Amino acid sequence: MSSNSYRNGSSIGRGGGGGAMKLENHSSKYSPSSSSKSKVQPTASSSTSLRRSSTGSSRDDSTVSRRVRVAVRLRPRNAEEMVADADFADCVESQPELKRLKLRKNNWDSDTYEFDEVLTEFASQKRVYEVVAKPVVESVLEGYNGTVMAYGQTGTGKTYTLGRLGEEDAADRGIMLRAMEDILAEVSPENDLVSVSYLQLYMETVQDLLNPTNDSISIVEDPKSGDVSLPGATLVEIRDHKSFKELLQLGEAHRFAANTKLNTESSRSHAILMVHIKRSVKGRNSSLSSENGSMALMGKTLKPPVVRKSKLVIVDLAGSERIDKSGSEGHTLEEAKSINLSLSALGKCINALAENSAHVPVRDSKLTRLLRDSFGGTARTSLVITIGPSPRHRGETSSTIMFGQRAMKVENMVKIKEEFDYKSLSRRLEIQLDKLIAEHERQQKAFQDEIERMALEAQKRISEVELSYADALEKEKLRCQKDYLESVKRLEEQWKEKQEKHGHGKVKLGPSDDGIEQKSNRVPPVLFAPGEVAEIKQKLHNEILLRKAAEAEIDNLKSQLIHWKQTEAARNAELLKVRKMLEDEVCQKAKLEEEIEMLQSQLLQISFEADESRRNLDRGMGGNTPSSMESLMPEVKHQQLRDSGDGEKASVVKLFEQVGLHKILSLLESEDADVRIHAVKVVANLAAEESNQEKIVEAGGLTSLLTLLRSSNDETVHRVAAGAIANLAMNETNQELIMSQGGISLLSLTAAKAQDPQTLRMVAGAIANLCGNDKLQAKLRAEGGVRALLGMVGCRHPDVLAQVARGIANFAKCESRASSQGTKSGRSVLIEDGALPWIVQNANNEASPIRRHIELALCHLAQHEINAKEMINGGALWELVRISRDCSREDIRALALRILKSSPSFQAELKRLRVDYG
Ligand code: ADP
Ligand code: MG
Repeated sequence: MSSNSYRNGSSIGRGGGGGAMKLENHSSKYSPSSSSKSKVQPTASSSTSLRRSSTGSSRDDSTVSRRVRVAVRLRPRNAEEMVADADFADCVESQPELKRLKLRKNNWDSDTYEFDEVLTEFASQKRVYEVVAKPVVESVLEGYNGTVMAYGQTGTGKTYTLGRLGEEDAADRGIMLRAMEDILAEVSPENDLVSVSYLQLYMETVQDLLNPTNDSISIVEDPKSGDVSLPGATLVEIRDHKSFKELLQLGEAHRFAANTKLNTESSRSHAILMVHIKRSVKGRNSSLSSENGSMALMGKTLKPPVVRKSKLVIVDLAGSERIDKSGSEGHTLEEAKSINLSLSALGKCINALAENSAHVPVRDSKLTRLLRDSFGGTARTSLVITIGPSPRHRGETSSTIMFGQRAMKVENMVKIKEEFDYKSLSRRLEIQLDKLIAEHERQQKAFQDEIERMALEAQKRISEVELSYADALEKEKLRCQKDYLESVKRLEEQWKEKQEKHGHGKVKLGPSDDGIEQKSNRVPPVLFAPGEVAEIKQKLHNEILLRKAAEAEIDNLKSQLIHWKQTEAARNAELLKVRKMLEDEVCQKAKLEEEIEMLQSQLLQISFEADESRRNLDRGMGGNTPSSMESLMPEVKHQQLRDSGDGEKASVVKLFEQVGLHKILSLLESEDADVRIHAVKVVANLAAEESNQEKIVEAGGLTSLLTLLRSSNDETVHRVAAGAIANLAMNETNQELIMSQGGISLLSLTAAKAQDPQTLRMVAGAIANLCGNDKLQAKLRAEGGVRALLGMVGCRHPDVLAQVARGIANFAKCESRASSQGTKSGRSVLIEDGALPWIVQNANNEASPIRRHIELALCHLAQHEINAKEMINGGALWELVRISRDCSREDIRALALRILKSSPSFQAELKRLRVDYG
């Protein structure tokens, strides 16, 4: 006795596998993890598994790789076989405890195959259900798709296994009934839905077994999910077991009728039962709630309920035996091909899947299309292959076994079918919305009612008040009437009293005439004289009138009071309004002031920048620089001229006046450097205007500017401040002030530090102005003013040189005046301080402002004989000669000539040099 090895190379011991290997004995139920158990499982553990190399690995919580489970069921010998095969042994031998099946080749040789379950001829229907279908049913109830399928030769017990109704013997019930029993026991009739369709597939036509007229149902595939559905199939909701059984019976009857009509046997068709289950999922059982984070953010009420839709497909396949191609069963060849088309396509697909082939011909047949999810799809699939024991059908049995072996290699990605039930969410939300609408309406109604109630109450109160008011009025009226009556009564009493008194008096006063006495006793006594009565009446009338007037007055006052109250309220409102307006105005004013300040500073900036740029422009034009002491002033004058046509800028100076000189000057000491610069620019602009100069000095501006020269390190500040000082230094009083406040040393220091020629120009301009003051000559020299001035010639900038020349000319003029007046003796300070060489050198400078000042200075110096010698030695004589001949200004030319002629030293020198200058 020998045994063969498995096809896939992993062999087990020969000799019938008796005790060669110890294999585990498995429980009848297989679990998802059982596929990875160490038992010898040639097909399952081989590397050919389709989707994942390791079974049981999971993609996510709801996706698990699971192999198609295959059980083999051996039918007991039937009556015929008992007789016919009596002398033969069965062609198969089952070893259920080893889960093996031996297929005898002959008396001495057999192949051994291993299955997930081996069900012997004695296996009960219950056990078969539990082993083959129950795990699938459980999966389906959890939300996975599931397939249970029977494959095998006709007569081997497929229908017995799946569709038996067990009417005579309940223990015979097949998988369909038992599955439905389990399903119905598990689902909740309120929340879940179980519905069934029952179909037959024959010659590539899908027929509805629940509605035979519906005999061409099309298969629809969802291109996205790949889900297959049969929208045309009748779907019957199942609520109890009995109705399902009836449905199966009905289906069976229709199948029989259809097959009769088509002249075929049921073994040639596939019967497909589809059980659709839709279950609602509670809370965190749902895989979607963890899958989709954003869903977790949704409010509780907004979260759509999650439903799991799953499908259990139970397929009773057509007989697997090859039908005779010759058509012995009465079929044409075409028919024969078509009959088995679906089954052979299924075989091809399973082969492709088992071999992990790239192409799986799913679309080749309707069956494979319908079962696309069952093999290589997402369903949990269990296949039972049925075989008979007869050696006469060894070939068919063998091919069935091989089909089962291959199917064991097919791996599915079991995936939970879960989705959000938006329809029911929408329903729920609609209900909620309706509730809210109703609630809203209720509240609105209640609100209106409340308002009505309040209005009524108010009305009631008003009428009550009116009533009580009328009441009070009535009472008051009554009281007044009573008072009136009382006072009338009192008056009457008084009247009577008076009358009586009067009467007595009369008696007393009357004459003692008896006759008259008698008479007076008889007739009612006339107490008052008619005049008196009239008087009293008049009084009464007056009283009444007065009372009426008082009443009218009261009414009047009352109405006035009301009027006043109203007026007062109106006035209060008015007052409030006015106050508010006032506040707004104040606010607005503050804003405007701010704005004005801002505009002012902007304007200052603009005007100063305009000055600067024009100054630069003027400088660029050269030669146009004014030669007089006014040379530092014209900018502003030009500006004003120009600005006067330009409304906006015209009143810059006025604007400063508004801002206040003191304020501007105080800004010179500001902490903020920018503010300081702006302020000094403003002051400089103001100082350019003669009319402002006095005010500036009075306000301490000059001191501030000098302080700024001392304290600031900013050259711009120096430049602008020096410019301002220069402008202020045009006035004699100011010049003295500058000197007395140490201005010269400050200006000298500024000149020493300056980098910018314009700073030097300003400083030189200031000193030049000081040089023009007769009183300051000595001090100016003593404090280094002259030296500072001469020191600046190093700069060579014509603007600077022009100012230096102007200073020298000014100084020489004053000196000359002093010498003439006899207040000065000795040589010129300029000569003493060494200015002569520069003077001579620049006497014929091409820049006319420089030239002119120096020419003047030379003339001033030459006027005094005491300077002559130095001048001759320094070469100044020749310059004088040139001036006397070439100077463009006639007066200077004449002056030079006169000096040359009148000076004995010059004359002598000229004579010595034989220059005729007679
Ligand atoms: P198939 O559907 O594969 O053509 P059936 O289910 O119609 O085969 O079975 C053929 C016959 O065999 C039936 O009479 C059935 O009662 C009988 N049969 C099948 N399997 C068994 C079994 N396990 N035990 C007893 N009888 C069986
Ligand atoms: Mg059958």
